Order: sequence, then structure tokens, then C-alpha cells
Amino acid sequence: MDKIIQHLQQSGPILIASHINPDGDAIGSSLAIGLALESLGKHVTFYTESPIPAVYRFLPESDRMVEEINAENQFQTAIILDCGDIYRVGDAASIIEKIPTVINIDHHITNTKFGNYSLIDTTACATAEIVYRLIKKMNVPINNVIAISIYTGIMTDTGSFRFSNTNKDSFAICEEMIALGADPYLVAQYVYGTYSLGRIKLLNRAIDSIEISKNGKLSVMTVTEEMFDETNTKPDDVDGFINYAKGIEDVKIAALILEQHKNNGNKGTSKTYHVSLRSDETVDVGEIATFYGGGGHSTAAGFSIESPLAGIKSKIFNLANKL
Ligand code: 5GP
Ligand code: MN
Repeated sequence: MDKIIQHLQQSGPILIASHINPDGDAIGSSLAIGLALESLGKHVTFYTESPIPAVYRFLPESDRMVEEINAENQFQTAIILDCGDIYRVGDAASIIEKIPTVINIDHHITNTKFGNYSLIDTTACATAEIVYRLIKKMNVPINNVIAISIYTGIMTDTGSFRFSNTNKDSFAICEEMIALGADPYLVAQYVYGTYSLGRIKLLNRAIDSIEISKNGKLSVMTVTEEMFDETNTKPDDVDGFINYAKGIEDVKIAALILEQHKNNGNKGTSKTYHVSLRSDETVDVGEIATFYGGGGHSTAAGFSIESPLAGIKSKIFNLANKL
């Protein structure tokens, strides 16, 4: 951590980036570290390949995120947050790799330790927790915008303090963030209480799609493009749906298969699927996701796959035989 701080203190323009389809931790930890560095007089650019989901746009300064960066030569340092590997940032990975210093800050067990410096703590409940410690060590005062960002990162990555990554530090840091200006009701209201009616209808279809393995230990939820069209919703509306499949009694592994269209330029579009996996603590889904080219944590992981839906489902249902 000391070497990272020393480097940042003397660094020129800094790029802050996190993963595609950003969640509360990706956005919260990016804003927190970026704003802290800005208060030290640093020139900071925030990058995210996908648009910020509507429920996170209440975060102050989130409108500063840009969806394109053209040239690596405008930056001296890139800080990559909440990404198990550098390709999680999306298409800009090839540009970011050329930035002279890449700093990798993450809490995923499958992290590939890319970059010139890495700050990885797999016991941290969220990347926002690691960023909190870094900001403290840098002696930067935490203003209310930084506090709201860190609070949101921890609240969302712990599923509102329900998931197995929730620990006493999650509460201790959040308590401090509340004292520094994060309003828990307001954040919860924005994140969980501002859904469109379409999203609720999509949830209805998603719940209806749940299939259970013969032994009852594995559940699969499927969300298709057709469901998005029928309900006028987008993939980021699916955030959190998998918890319904996971919450069924006896279920040890829950999967959510999300159909997505991949843009192949002038060759048109093709179908691709993102599979999210959740488990109780008895099964390591991070290993399963890594096997399929993805990654994550032992109890929450994911991967992308391009093969027919029926084949993907049968691969997933096969996992139930080992449960
Ligand atoms: P989710 O299911 O919410 O998309 O992701 C669960 C966890 O797995 C997150 O921590 C996320 O960063 C990680 N994850 C999801 N998809 C991928 C993937 O395609 N590659 C990698 N390396 N990690 C993933
Ligand atoms: Mn995270």
C-alpha cells in the first residue's frame, strides 16, 4: 500500500476504471478513490464502458464517468477497481494495458494479479472497503460524497449486510460513513426503491422461469431478450434477481442465465449469454466460473459463454449431480 501511495503522490493524470456492467461497488469505489485523489490536486478521469445503471445515478459526481477513452498517452497511471482480470474493463483493456503504471485494487479470489502494483484483499467485503483503507492511509479527509460512495459500495456488495462476505468491518466502516454524511435510508431508497414498473414485471417473468434440478439443490433462472422487449427493460434491471433463485430452501447453487446480443460490427449481432452463479458456503462457484473463462468469489461468480441455451442449461444442471 505504501508503494502505491508514493506512486500516486508523484503521478500525473490518472485514469480510474472498473468493470463492464458496473455495480454499486464498482461505481462507489471508483468515485471514492478518484475524488480523494482529486482533493490531493490530481487530475482524474473516470471511465466505465457501460452506462451507469439508473439506480446509481443519484451518486454525486457519477455523471462525470466517460464511456470512451481514446489514447493511453494522456494518462500516467490507471487504477483498475473491482476487476478480477484486466479484460473485465471491456474494450478499453487494450488501451489501458499501455498506460505506464497500472494499479489493481480488488477483492476477488480469482484475481490474476495483473498490473504493476496490486492491492488485493479477498477478505474485504467490497473493493470499497479496500479503497476506504487506502484513503485513510493517504490521510485524505472523507467528505460526504466520498462517504456516500463507500457506503453504497459496501451496502450493495454485501446485499445490504446479508451475504457471507458481511463482517464486522462492513458495519464499522458504514457506521463511520453515516457519521460522515451517508444517509442509509436515502441510499437504500435510491438503490432499492426507485424501480420502474417494467422491472417489477420483468421480475415476475424471471421468477416464473425458475427451474429446479431433480435433487432440489440447484436452481436456474433465465432472462431473455424477449422478456426485456416485453417489459421495456434493460440488462441492468436484472441486478439482484438471482437472490430469488438462491433463496429457495435446499438450494446450494443458483444460476441466472442472461441472454445478450453481441455487436459484431458490420457482421451484425449474435447471441451470447452471461451466467451468474451464487452458492451457499459449501460450494466454490468461483472455481466453476474460472473453468468457463470467468471468475469471481467463492459464493458469487460469473462467466460469459457463446453456445445454445439448451447446452448451457444442461451443463449447469450437470453440476447438481455433485451436490
Ligand atoms: P454477477 O453475477 O453479479 O455478474 O457477478 C458476481 C461476481 O462474479 C462479481 O464479483 C463479478 O465481478 C464476478 N464476475 C461476473 N462475471 C464475470 C466474468 O465474466 N469474469 C470474471 N472474471 N468475473 C466475473
Ligand atoms: Mn465488488
